[in-house]
Amino acid sequence: MTSEIGLKWVNEHSERLIETSDKLWEFAETALHEYQSSDLLQGELKQAGFEVETGVAGMPTAFRARWGNGTPTVGFLAEYDALPGLSQKSVPRKEPMKEGAPGHGCGHNLLGTAVLGAALALKAEMEQDNLSGTIVVFGCPAEEIMVGKIVMAREGLFDELDVALTWHPQSLNGVMNCGWVAMNSVKFDFHGITSHAAFAPEMGRSALDAVELMNVGVNYLREHVSSNARIHYVITNGGREPNIVPGYAQVWYYIRAPKREEVDAIYARIKDIAEGAALMAGTKVEARLLTACHDCLLNTSLNRHLSDSMQCVASPVWSEEELRFARELTQGFDANQRMRQISIFTRDNLEGHMLHSDVLPLNDTHILLPGSTDVSDVSWIVPTGQIMTACYPIGIPPHSWQLTASVSTSIGHKGMLYAAKVLVKAASELIREAGLLARVKAEHLKNTSEKKYVCALPEDFSLSTVHLE
Ligand SMILES: [Zn+2]
Repeated sequence: MTSEIGLKWVNEHSERLIETSDKLWEFAETALHEYQSSDLLQGELKQAGFEVETGVAGMPTAFRARWGNGTPTVGFLAEYDALPGLSQKSVPRKEPMKEGAPGHGCGHNLLGTAVLGAALALKAEMEQDNLSGTIVVFGCPAEEIMVGKIVMAREGLFDELDVALTWHPQSLNGVMNCGWVAMNSVKFDFHGITSHAAFAPEMGRSALDAVELMNVGVNYLREHVSSNARIHYVITNGGREPNIVPGYAQVWYYIRAPKREEVDAIYARIKDIAEGAALMAGTKVEARLLTACHDCLLNTSLNRHLSDSMQCVASPVWSEEELRFARELTQGFDANQRMRQISIFTRDNLEGHMLHSDVLPLNDTHILLPGSTDVSDVSWIVPTGQIMTACYPIGIPPHSWQLTASVSTSIGHKGMLYAAKVLVKAASELIREAGLLARVKAEHLKNTSEKKYVCALPEDFSLSTVHLE
């Protein structure tokens, strides 16, 4: 059972969607500051007859928009936050729109817009074919600081869904049938005693010494964690001047591992190391967990369905001009580096290809991505599927000025429209085919029978702390 109404809707409204995506790109608002971006998407949904709640889960830039009646309830997850310092013009050489300003270096302008397009197209299709069901669009802020969906999940916002769909701009077309690692973001504040470093060093207790000792300790720990675990840190405060014994110092850690439980275990050991370092330096330490996300739970039935949907919708064909632009953007990266970037998704040799035009077959071997996403938290609550579409040149690293440039051009626009079409097609079939949705839900139930979702945010989690960071 299939219908072309949703696909037709996206084609007929492509100009409007491109305009929306370009506006989000220009707003380029960072996590929890996405006021104009959130407003724009909410406005489009309201205009289409969706009932919109603003500021859900205590976040002013989050929203929930609902349309329809009865079941099934299909959720779409929209993101629209930009990254600091990645401002860039729509040109293939480094040229910030405004030096140091934020930019859409992860392509969330496209992400939010394709989700909007898919939801509106699905509504058009459901109206015309008289289908029962509810569409819920979640405006999820602050993905880049791993906050939005986790706070929304804690509030139970996704509980009503039968299935959730989303996507992410990438340099390849395919289903994201891959694991994302769990993560803790945590700051350690060390408090010592300030003193003159030359006249009275014996009276001082250096908080920076403690930070350095802690980092040495953690670097020894690396040998004793699984090889897929990642621990990275930056010293965010190491004192002011060499002649003042630092009375305060801070180090910020990300701890990642394939499973939530493993992150918890590594975090416990790192806290012990911090205590040990504080003791050695005669200081005190305080650990502040800023945010924590889960690993991703895959749903094979849903991913197979998404893969079929991707194969059924025509993927973008690139013009000479787009290929030229892409080639210019890849200058400065050697081919080996670029191929390494995509090797996690495909063994195909795409050397010499600038823009991906095929669709990768569904990968059955378990791929574990080294990064994290707050979509993972949703995946434990409700069957969640993610696709990716080619919106930038093959092998360009995410969070780069090259990516900011690409997602404002027809390359990004084509990838965004393709994603919207695949999502509406996949969602429409999930609504029409009760057996398909039942299979997807049964798999989810089986996978979560032993482990129910428990939000990993700390008890005293405060949005205002993260917001101020
Ligand atoms: Zn992203």
